Amino acid sequence: MSSRPDVHILVLDDEPFTLMLLSRQLANLGFTRVDTCDNGQAALELVDDTAHAPQLILCDLNMPGMDGVEFVRKLVEHGYSGSLILVSGEDERTLHSARTLVQAHRIEVLGSLQKPVSPQALFQLVERWVPPARVTKQLQGKGYGAQRLALAIQAGELINYYQPKVSISDGKVVGVETLVRWRHPVDGMVYPDQFIGLAEAHGLINALTQAVLVQALRDCASWARQGVSLKVAVNVSMDNLTALEFPEQITSAAAAAGVEPQSVVLEVTESQLMKDLRAPLEILTRLRLRRFKLSIDDFGTGHSSLAQLRDVPFHELKVDQGFVHGAHSDETLRAIFFASLTLAKELGMEAVAEGVEDADDWSFLQKTECDLAQGYFIARPMPADQVLDWANKWGMRWTSEQLGGSFPKRRNRRQVL
Ligand code: C2E
Ligand code: MG
Ligand code: MG
Repeated sequence: MSSRPDVHILVLDDEPFTLMLLSRQLANLGFTRVDTCDNGQAALELVDDTAHAPQLILCDLNMPGMDGVEFVRKLVEHGYSGSLILVSGEDERTLHSARTLVQAHRIEVLGSLQKPVSPQALFQLVERWVPPARVTKQLQGKGYGAQRLALAIQAGELINYYQPKVSISDGKVVGVETLVRWRHPVDGMVYPDQFIGLAEAHGLINALTQAVLVQALRDCASWARQGVSLKVAVNVSMDNLTALEFPEQITSAAAAAGVEPQSVVLEVTESQLMKDLRAPLEILTRLRLRRFKLSIDDFGTGHSSLAQLRDVPFHELKVDQGFVHGAHSDETLRAIFFASLTLAKELGMEAVAEGVEDADDWSFLQKTECDLAQGYFIARPMPADQVLDWANKWGMRWTSEQLGGSFPKRRNRRQVL
């Protein structure tokens, strides 16, 4: 790796030996601007010092006084916008829960390292890291108002991106998931986590879903006219499922676009606890009777739960990306992944793995009975007019990179649980 004097790194550990070792390993990787601190307070002072503020912190978890977890909370209070690597002598599960906690604080975690740290493991984590620019992230939650969002929906500022879902066994592109974006005339592309909650809270989610759905159906019909038939999935909020006219609206939208209900997948996530489940259950059952496909999204998180599986006739189960990416090397994730997969199979549902980010995730999935995969390794979400071109290229990539692999699938899934 070439010299990286532009990048500022901080190593925080109470053991002088670890500080020395990690500084040396980082220097060998070309990082020459490395500061060290043996306690959290001193590290926070550096974070506050704009001239020395680090872009990456390697942080020990076990320290006397302020431990790593407390340090991370304070980092957030100090507006830290860089990345983090956790270093510890603790077992994998403890590291994992600390990592999850840090991610919940919206700090980017490159990964965790077990002591004694091997130069190879450190290299793997920093190799693909893109240092964040020297700006704080305070700008992120821009706080749009409901009126502005209503205007955006009306003015057609919301646009659909599509991310492919492919069959793991034969590479066939089975469908796409619609992911909405707001093309803001001033701020550029705004992502759904900044406005879906707002739409739900201010009674705008039906209008939003309707706009997304109509465009998705139109695009689906257009791909079919060009000879490629793809299922199209649309995300549906639990709030959509309280409007009793929803099944009728969606049925007429599909008919108007000339798309069969069987080609439309509705991905349901429960973002808030529903007290009264009667309306959602009625609506989902009616949608199923009309032959729309129902999918339980982000399975294993929040309220996408066993109770929903019991009550709703879903066709598809999407294992949340938090249990997919990295499952090949993490026992806990793997156990949750296989448990979800077994559930899907036992209930006769198709299983989709979300968050397939790299070749390791992909080859892990090939050894399982999971049906479909979706993630950056296959394709990032893209505008409608790029989908067919991408599908063509994917076919070539499938052959040239031999993504079909040579592993026999495991037949007995109980063995792998
Ligand atoms: P989701 O339905 O679970 O969609 C998957 C999210 O993961 C998308 O984020 C996608 O861009 C991202 N993703 C895909 N592959 C990878 C990967 O390999 N690694 C990682 N780390 N992420 C990946 P996006 O587009 O920001 O959407 C976030 C969430 O917003 C969606 O999660 C969905 O719950 C919601 N959403 C998006 N569009 C709509 C919509 O039209 N209506 C409603 N109600 N919700 C929507
Ligand atoms: Mg989804
Ligand atoms: Mg999901």
